Amino acid sequence: RDIFYSSTTVRASLPRNMIENSMFEEEPDVVDLAKDSTAFPEFPALDPDEVVYEPRSSRLLVRGLGENDLDDEEEDYESSARLLGMSFMNRSSTRSPSASPYIRQAPPRSCSRPSARMLVVGVFILVLVTSMAMVLYFLPGCTFTKTGCPKANSSTPMELVYPKSTTGEMFPWNELRLPASVRPVNYDLSLTPNLTSMTFTGRTIINMIIQHNTKRVVLHSSEINIIKATFQVGEGKSVEVKVLEYKPWQQIAVSFPGDLKEGQVCVLTLDYTANLSHTYDGFYNSSYNDKTGAKRVLAATQFEPQAARKAFPCFDEPAFKATFLVRITREPEYIALSNMPKAKTTTLPSGMLEDEFEQTSVNMSTYLVAFIVANFTSITRNVSNTLVSVYSVPEKKEHTQYALDTASRLLQFYNTVFDIDYPLRKLDLVAIPDFLAGAMENWGLITFRETSLLVQNQSSLLDKQLIANVVAHELAHQWFGNLVTMRWWNDLWLSEGFATYWQYASLMTEFPQLYLGNVFLEERFKAMAKDSLNSSHPVSVSAQVTTPEQVSEMFDSITYEKGASLLLMLNSTLPDGQFRKGLLEYLRQYRGSNTVTDDLWNSITRVAVQESVSDMMRTWTLQKGFPLVTVSRKGGEVTLTQEHFLLSTDNTTHTSSLWHIPVTYVNDSCSSAPSCRQMFTLRNKTATLKVSESVKWLKLNYMNTGFYIVHYGDEGWTALIDALKTDVSTLTPHDRASLIHNIFSLSRLGRVSFRQVLSLLDYTTNETETAPLTEALTQLSSVYRLLDKRPELRLVARMKAYILGHFGPLMDSQDWGVEESVSSQERRSALLELACSLGRKNCTDQATALYEQWTNSNQTNRIPGDLQRVVFSVAAQSDSGWLSLLDTYRLTTYDSEKRKILQALASTQDPRRIVWILSTVLEGGIIHTQELPLVISTVSDGFAGHLFVWDFVKESWDRIIEKFPVGSYSIQSIVKSTTSQFSTQTHLEEVQGFFSSLKERGSQMRSVQEALETIRLNQHWMDRNLATLRDWL
Ligand SMILES: [Zn+2]
Repeated sequence: RDIFYSSTTVRASLPRNMIENSMFEEEPDVVDLAKDSTAFPEFPALDPDEVVYEPRSSRLLVRGLGENDLDDEEEDYESSARLLGMSFMNRSSTRSPSASPYIRQAPPRSCSRPSARMLVVGVFILVLVTSMAMVLYFLPGCTFTKTGCPKANSSTPMELVYPKSTTGEMFPWNELRLPASVRPVNYDLSLTPNLTSMTFTGRTIINMIIQHNTKRVVLHSSEINIIKATFQVGEGKSVEVKVLEYKPWQQIAVSFPGDLKEGQVCVLTLDYTANLSHTYDGFYNSSYNDKTGAKRVLAATQFEPQAARKAFPCFDEPAFKATFLVRITREPEYIALSNMPKAKTTTLPSGMLEDEFEQTSVNMSTYLVAFIVANFTSITRNVSNTLVSVYSVPEKKEHTQYALDTASRLLQFYNTVFDIDYPLRKLDLVAIPDFLAGAMENWGLITFRETSLLVQNQSSLLDKQLIANVVAHELAHQWFGNLVTMRWWNDLWLSEGFATYWQYASLMTEFPQLYLGNVFLEERFKAMAKDSLNSSHPVSVSAQVTTPEQVSEMFDSITYEKGASLLLMLNSTLPDGQFRKGLLEYLRQYRGSNTVTDDLWNSITRVAVQESVSDMMRTWTLQKGFPLVTVSRKGGEVTLTQEHFLLSTDNTTHTSSLWHIPVTYVNDSCSSAPSCRQMFTLRNKTATLKVSESVKWLKLNYMNTGFYIVHYGDEGWTALIDALKTDVSTLTPHDRASLIHNIFSLSRLGRVSFRQVLSLLDYTTNETETAPLTEALTQLSSVYRLLDKRPELRLVARMKAYILGHFGPLMDSQDWGVEESVSSQERRSALLELACSLGRKNCTDQATALYEQWTNSNQTNRIPGDLQRVVFSVAAQSDSGWLSLLDTYRLTTYDSEKRKILQALASTQDPRRIVWILSTVLEGGIIHTQELPLVISTVSDGFAGHLFVWDFVKESWDRIIEKFPVGSYSIQSIVKSTTSQFSTQTHLEEVQGFFSSLKERGSQMRSVQEALETIRLNQHWMDRNLATLRDWL
């Protein structure tokens, strides 16, 4: 059950529980609807509608037969049948089981001349099946769900369960996912937003094709009032039809007395009205104050993952790709933008203008559609055959140049590296004043927060690094995500993991001066922190991802950063050039369509010369967590052992997970150049490696490109520490950072003592490189902050003395002038922010002096960008400083500066100001509500704020989730920052009590599980280490 790499057969070698999970829990009607059907070439033409109306009992029966009663072939067949939406009892005898790529070829079975034995067995099975069916029939029934049968229904199992639509009539569909019987081909959208009444009217004409005979058309619609609906079949007459709505699932349906026939072309026309949304998704209104202080309004869209349905009725699932033609009617004072270039503008009799955009030249998913009505201005440039523009509010036009330069250069880079040209004639990058995410990759119309796109020319490279990072991510999506799209949200990493990977890969190549390597390393460490908890999830989720909350929760650091880390690991494992070759194959094969994770591995496996990439990568994407590799050595014999690195308060928790680990290593004779790297694949629980007896030490995971942690044992660690004390540069900076990260992690796991951690840190008095220094400071300050929240005054003082004793001289030696290199800026700001927050006088004096120079010069004497946050934060601790910063915040148009001022304002230790800033940001206005997660996380770090902020979140929960959807990244961040520093039983119970009282308003979130786990681990760590810390520090 635990080894699943040996066989080359695709599914057959998976442990049975995995087969079940992935098969049973996938949606029954997952059908590839892309125009290019190569992704799912021989999908049998079943009508999935039939499936859902199966009596529940037969499904239960299948479950009831279970593992013991079916042989393996049967079971696989059955699993696949379920995947295809068929019931076992009802499966068509004509269907070829080999038609699905998910199943093994069943051996041919002759049924023409059954033997007597087979007959007896057959009768026996029939009796067994019948009796079980009867038992189930008479038992209290329950609805079959993918988690089994959690609650009984009052109805009998044979009764069909349909929801009731708003009118009280039966709604003809009962699944969250749409049926596959109808496929949209083209949408014709006409929208007229009214920015005074904050409403809009719309007409959506959907051309669709019937895939399988059906009596219904079901699609998504949310918060839309449909006024009129007409339906036309083929060349027939358009007739008015009645639309049923089932609000809880955001679906509408039209039923027909007779069958719509396979292959028929139909047109559904819907006229409707709706309000512009007051949240951050759908077609929403945003506002800002212009330079005269007047309020300006605009309307923009944010559809990912499931909000296109709030702007127009649609088949709102990523696999339903179609083309779109958009028309927007606007007042002359505004401009309108959409995915495609404008085709024409018509003046209407009312004086309004109607912009018609070209029909999309590509098939795209609904979540990528976008439109904006605003009074923005732009700058533009031609790049190859694409017109690149950056839009902003007029007063920020001068802050758009850097984004234009970066986007232009990256577009060329991606065109070359992906070997497929960006397919549209224009690419707009638009800064939206109030916008929730960092940015959104809508095809041809990428939207950004102002702070993620706008920067002054004279800003520091560190500020520009952030902009370049976001631009590079969104541009990469135009291929990974837009051109090739995941079939469903459970494989979101195919979009986000890739965009994250390429944001670093492209910038490290094209903009080496931005030094993204350190950022990527930190992000990999962050992903590991989350993935070491039991509440983590596999990158490619086989469990149920259907509710809006479950879909929202997919946007997390596992999907993004772990996804990117796995791609980095694969790239550094394969011989040069093969990774890219594999990706080109994948892009070529699936352009315009939808994929699952296996499609990717199969594409790479096809072009890679070495062992099967699928076999290796499935061990990383199908199970959660990552391995710990323990090294033990006897002379020239090195034994490597792998186990799941799982932080747990319960030492008995073991998992049998195994990974194919591409272990890399260097040794004392050759340790820092890339050519020193040697590789060994660890597939089993343990393996032995031969090295020369004269080797003094080994360092595994060269440059930390592998997603695993290494424990060297007492002797191994001592040898490495000695080597570093003798010569820091014997290892690369990333290898040093990796040692620091690993030893802190091992201390959390209870494998090394905190004394050993400190003994490694002894070498850092000679450390001057950014990556190891920032890692050491991050780890130490997180321990410090944890202690700071406990009644441990003396220990906190000693911890502070330890940090300053170690890093004080380096902190004091930092220059406060303009610093050119990004790496130095990162190092300096990390050192100084910690120094000033610990109250080191040298730091606070310098910061105060710089702040005074800045205010005295009427803000013309600029503070270097990388020092702004520390300078503002020191200033914000005084009354006058805080108030003058608030004034600057209101007036400044410099977004990067503004964000740092906000963090400074939120870092105040004055309780009244903390309460004020929290309620002000939630209200919106002076501070956009988009900043709530940032404000909450800043307040939480401080001693004064961390309890206030928890009370605030509890009291304001309902208002918070009105703005930020349950499960979204913002909510995950809010839950994490308010609870991650608790370490007592009282707080554990408090947090548990609060979240369980929320019920459907958030108690089921993964981030809640993560919070509870983290508090327990903190508690456990304190129990284990407090006494010894008191001794050692
Ligand atoms: Zn993304």
